[in-house]
Amino acid sequence: MASALSEVSALVTGGTSGIGRAAAVELARLGARVAVSGRDQQRGKDVVAEIGTAGGSAEFIAADLRDAASARTLAGRAVEQLGRVDVLVNNAGVFPYGPTEQMTEADFDAVFGLNVKVPYFLVAELAPKMAERGGGAIINITTMVAELGTVDEGLYGASKAALALLTKSWAAEYGPRGVRVNAVSPGPTRTRGTAAWGEALDQLAAQGPAGRPGTPEEIAEAIAFLAGDRASFIHGAVLPVDGGRTAV
Ligand code: NAP
Repeated sequence: MASALSEVSALVTGGTSGIGRAAAVELARLGARVAVSGRDQQRGKDVVAEIGTAGGSAEFIAADLRDAASARTLAGRAVEQLGRVDVLVNNAGVFPYGPTEQMTEADFDAVFGLNVKVPYFLVAELAPKMAERGGGAIINITTMVAELGTVDEGLYGASKAALALLTKSWAAEYGPRGVRVNAVSPGPTRTRGTAAWGEALDQLAAQGPAGRPGTPEEIAEAIAFLAGDRASFIHGAVLPVDGGRTAV
């Protein structure tokens, strides 16, 4: 039997660490040919090697993403290297934490640049090509914080709330031409990016029914599901994978 994602080419931004890395590994395990994008060459090499050792197919595309130009360049390179992109996972993100009065304009621009502008222009480049071929899937990674009024995470939450709304807009725009656009909204998840949080991550996670942080692999399961045909009737959904935190 063919694998669920054989014949599928996928681009995962921020695929060198945490949730993106787990998503790249899972998509490859299901048969996709994966382009893993990130800044760090060594981490890129490591994930490509891990996927190769498991029998999958992956390549690393280095990209420091911050604006429309960097997004367009990455999209071009992914199409060049993979032939086409059928699945786009907009995962790369930054999540600074702190009082509003301490956030600088540079912080603001970095957060909205990577979390909103880059997905926007990757979709602008790649979704029309998917639509021309009559199919594709885009999965945006948002956060439970996009739905909660949290202290010290307003800037980050606002950027992901924008991405959640874009998920629905793009579903309306590209869905009729066969491109499914959805989002996965993780709760507290142990990654390199949250390593410095230590016990604060456990305390945050303790407020939800699961009572613990998630693993990158648990988030990746949802991403892989939305990427494949088993999610064929799902458009414009923002799927919470947050241990139930936003349900209570
Ligand atoms: P992480 O471990 O910090 O990994 C971040 C990834 O993004 C890395 O691959 C990193 O590449 C890449 N990246 C960062 N800045 C970049 C830039 N300027 N250009 C290109 N790539 C860049 O993060 P994570 O915890 O897995 O989070 C992944 C996504 O999930 C983010 O969008 C985050 O907002 C969201 N999320 C995370 C949690 C959580 O608790 N962890 C919860 C909700 C939502 P390098 O390896 O090259 O640095």
